[in-house]
Amino acid sequence: MKTETIKYLYSDYQFEITIDEKGCCFCPVCGIKTENENWRPYDENGLPTYDICECGFEYGFDDSGVPPYEKSWDRYRKSWLNEELEFGDSKTKSLEKKIEQLKNIGIFI
Ligand SMILES: [Zn+2]
Repeated sequence: MKTETIKYLYSDYQFEITIDEKGCCFCPVCGIKTENENWRPYDENGLPTYDICECGFEYGFDDSGVPPYEKSWDRYRKSWLNEELEFGDSKTKSLEKKIEQLKNIGIFI
């Protein structure tokens, strides 16, 4: 598991995104792998892309667009795991699959 550090433009805050050998990154919320090695959920300045993941998380909306982002990721991930979300794959993906997917980003449940 490799990580990439992204520094936020407006403060000292920085955060990590998990990437694979080819540079494709994983959603920091649900751990699904993206196929485009150039895509990141946040740009090089740490600002959100407003893209929406399969899990339903919108970078820039569900995290309020304000760091630290980790708290929002954690909060959203809990709801996603508990099938509490009406959008994304919260209710359609099995718990086993979700747990397996989260291992991509180093989360073991
Ligand atoms: Zn996701």
